[in-house]
Amino acid sequence: MSISLTNPVKYLRGVGPHRAAILEERGLPTVGDLLGYLPFRYEDRIRFTPIAEIIPGQVHTILAEVTAGGGGTVRFARGRAAIFHASFRDGSGTLHARFFHGAYLEATMKEGRRFVLHGKVDVDPYRPARLEMVNPQIESVGAAETAATDSTEVGRIVPIYEALGGISSRMLRRIIYTVLNNFDCNIPDALPPEILERYRFPSRRDALLYAHFPPKNESIELLNSFRSPAQTRLIFEEFFYYQLALALRRSRDHVQKGIAMRVREEKIREAVKRILPFKPTSAQKRVLVEIAADLERPYPMHRLLEGDVGSGKTIVAFEAATIVIENGYQVVLMAPTEILAAQHYLSARRIFKNAGYGVELIVSGRTKSAKDSALARAESGEAQIIVGTHALIENPVIFKKLGMVIVDEQHRFGVLQRKRLIEKGASPHVLVMTATPIPRTLALTLYGDLDLSVIDEMPPGRTPIETRWSEETQLPGVWEFLRREIARGRQAYIVYPVIEESKQELKAATAEFERLAKNVFPKLRVGLLHGRLKNDEKDAVMEQFRRNEIQVLVATTVIEVGVDVPNATVMVIEHADRFGLAQLHQLRGRIGRGTEKSQCILIAPKKITGDAQARLETMVATSNGFEIAERDLKLRGPGEFFGTRQHGDAAFSVAQPLRDHELLDLARREAFALAENPAKAAEVVARLESLSAAWQKRYHLASVG
Ligand code: ADP
Ligand code: MG
Repeated sequence: MSISLTNPVKYLRGVGPHRAAILEERGLPTVGDLLGYLPFRYEDRIRFTPIAEIIPGQVHTILAEVTAGGGGTVRFARGRAAIFHASFRDGSGTLHARFFHGAYLEATMKEGRRFVLHGKVDVDPYRPARLEMVNPQIESVGAAETAATDSTEVGRIVPIYEALGGISSRMLRRIIYTVLNNFDCNIPDALPPEILERYRFPSRRDALLYAHFPPKNESIELLNSFRSPAQTRLIFEEFFYYQLALALRRSRDHVQKGIAMRVREEKIREAVKRILPFKPTSAQKRVLVEIAADLERPYPMHRLLEGDVGSGKTIVAFEAATIVIENGYQVVLMAPTEILAAQHYLSARRIFKNAGYGVELIVSGRTKSAKDSALARAESGEAQIIVGTHALIENPVIFKKLGMVIVDEQHRFGVLQRKRLIEKGASPHVLVMTATPIPRTLALTLYGDLDLSVIDEMPPGRTPIETRWSEETQLPGVWEFLRREIARGRQAYIVYPVIEESKQELKAATAEFERLAKNVFPKLRVGLLHGRLKNDEKDAVMEQFRRNEIQVLVATTVIEVGVDVPNATVMVIEHADRFGLAQLHQLRGRIGRGTEKSQCILIAPKKITGDAQARLETMVATSNGFEIAERDLKLRGPGEFFGTRQHGDAAFSVAQPLRDHELLDLARREAFALAENPAKAAEVVARLESLSAAWQKRYHLASVG
């Protein structure tokens, strides 16, 4: 049997229609695509650690069978929460293992069955004489496989794949092994030969063979750090094609005709100065210069404005808007929530009052007549700045002369939503703002077609927020502290993870609001804000809080984004261990916005999971958004950090932007250099397209070719 790259996976041995469907769905329809699916880890199964030689605290791979009597038992059997216990022996000793949610193992972990177990071995906390593995990775191994000379399971460095739907790592290993053994065709290489030579990269064929089934003598540490020449090449390649797509898209944008704004005229400079209620920070000034330079060019700006919560992005956006409006164009500002849109609308009205610009609000919660008049004013051009939510793209909003699109809190919107708004103008300038401080390297991968401006300085007069971690038993003292702060004229937020009580046994905003208002703060004005209130109710509550008619605001994460009440200086977050790090940071950003000292109190038990503990400790240790983002990335990995909505675009198979940032930089330099030479770049794209349709799609090369 001979196999070539274009063979559909469904004809492979070991792949029936069901598995073929899974592979196709995961973007691996052909043999070529399947070979691009690489292991995420390697196990040294040439020599297993005998149980007797295990060193507690270290990661080991052992080969052992389930003991008689000590065979699998389920304890604490409550549905999915069941813990499965089993013991194993290998001739040198016995080892205990515990599996959380392990009820399903009852069927397979029978006496005498052999398994490879991989994981950290610790001393059993309940029985200090006993060693145990908690949630090891396991694979069952038949007797015949150990004996076979070309076993894929043992006697070699074994690749471990991320399971795909119902296809386990072991099945994938078998399928890929069979392919590689019967593979006698050439594997074409789309990387330019100069690059192969410059970095002494192996060919794609050699790199793939090696990365799937490395030779016995390779260092397992090198493999697991993904720095063997084969892996380096494959990682570089993924970044390179992706960056090439970005570079080509960028050069196309630069050809596209945009609106060259006048920015240097005295009249315009004066108009910009006049709207400023305070002296801008030097970071704000620098960023405005970068934006103005873009606006002046005859092709559309695509700029990401990054700055920590409270760093003052909005006023910079309004300065840019002033330039655009003075040139006779309209500006639209889209925000992810109605609260935030309303707030931007109010500040725009305030800031642009003297300038006399027409400001309109378009959100779904308004009356038909209010909406109709806003729409009419956008279309006639009477409205110069239009603020809204995604209602802006859902409604038939027509602009007379749209010059710039501003998208706030970009991470809440998908790329397509941004695009639909942009299409309402003729190549308008685009400014996206985010308070998620993305480390530079990641900004380049994820938003590589955007230019980056960073506000890395806080407005003056801020006192740093003091954050502490208290337990629930300390709440009475916390409430007492809150009363004192409010007696001094300050205001406070109390945040809960859920709106209503549920099975999860979490305190809920609505119930706690009742209790706090009645029993804890009977003399104070307490308000409630959550996502299920009607829009006008939400607006009314926010307005009352802004005017200090509400002193204590009980809320859910609806307040996470953008809400700006400088007099609020206390935030209490209950069940703080239930929130993500980025979310806690965003929440905390609601305080510390004025000159008064602010305090954030995180309520959570002292005994919590390692990750939750790391999150809360980070919050206590720093309020620097960039540090927090780096920590968060390490804790969660980039996929979750950004949410699938955006990360889905940059689906790398082996490359990991954080781990491989040097290769990312290198690939970006090479790709942008190649894009300078359109003929050569087109050659690479064509070669890539002939290799695989899936790749084309993955890197969006079809749209730029
Ligand atoms: P971001 O959107 O970046 O989170 P905002 O634009 O909402 O931050 O600004 C936060 C607060 O700081 C606002 O109350 C704003 O008026 C104020 N502010 C912004 N820039 C300055 C400055 N240069 N000097 C004083 N206050 C400022
Ligand atoms: Mg903001």
